Amino acid sequence: MTTIRPLVAGNWKMHGLSVSLAELLALKDRLAAPVPGTDIMVCPPATLLAQARYGLRGSDIKLGAQDCHPLAEGAYTGDISAEMLADAGASAVIVGHSERRTLHGETDALVNAKARATHRAGLTAIICVGETEEERRGGATLEVVGNQLRGSVPEDAQASNTVIAYEPVWAIGTGLTPTQDDVAEAHAFIRNELGRLIGEAEAARIRILYGGSVKPANATELLAVPHVNGALVGGASLKASDFYAILLAYRRR
Ligand code: PEP
Repeated sequence: MTTIRPLVAGNWKMHGLSVSLAELLALKDRLAAPVPGTDIMVCPPATLLAQARYGLRGSDIKLGAQDCHPLAEGAYTGDISAEMLADAGASAVIVGHSERRTLHGETDALVNAKARATHRAGLTAIICVGETEEERRGGATLEVVGNQLRGSVPEDAQASNTVIAYEPVWAIGTGLTPTQDDVAEAHAFIRNELGRLIGEAEAARIRILYGGSVKPANATELLAVPHVNGALVGGASLKASDFYAILLAYRRR
């Protein structure tokens, strides 16, 4: 079986002023003893990327962004392109987060275009998929996730430029998490679907993160689930002590 290097990415969402960079520097200090075999990323608001890059000099912590426009440049007031995010210091972009799908009406086609833009800029696309509570109750989880994957993952996606984050919408920010069996079922399904979409070889190597109320208390059990190759962490990534406590699960692995 292929060994996949895990990724733990923190999504700060619309949280963080310059003063919040102190948390990033505290994380950098704690990670002076790195977590072997694990990639660590923080995705602050775009306004903090350049300062964060400066603060993280000499550290292995990578930076990501939370969204991008599909085009490289143009008359799109307020938007930011993947090229601009790369220029500011990002190495990845989260695309298709459920908050963008729900609150900004983003379709699979748009998420796909954003993922392609991310690749065009030489960055990794972290493509989010996941079902709502209603969809899970209706037994439609795998159908929904399958449709999102088919619509959102570009044909030329590779393990080197694409990460999938399975984030059940009902688990985001709620403190609720699926059972280990439910996570296992969803992640195995995602790997299988990716095999059909981008070929078995790439699908076997691609990272599939679990996201939704990951905390220090549940990080170890979630990481133990087959086909879970890391975590996308929202709330618990805002405090260096909590994020670091999650990373300890990866050190013990
Ligand atoms: C997220 O928004 O990607 C997320 C996983 O949030 P939380 O960890 O707060 O549930």
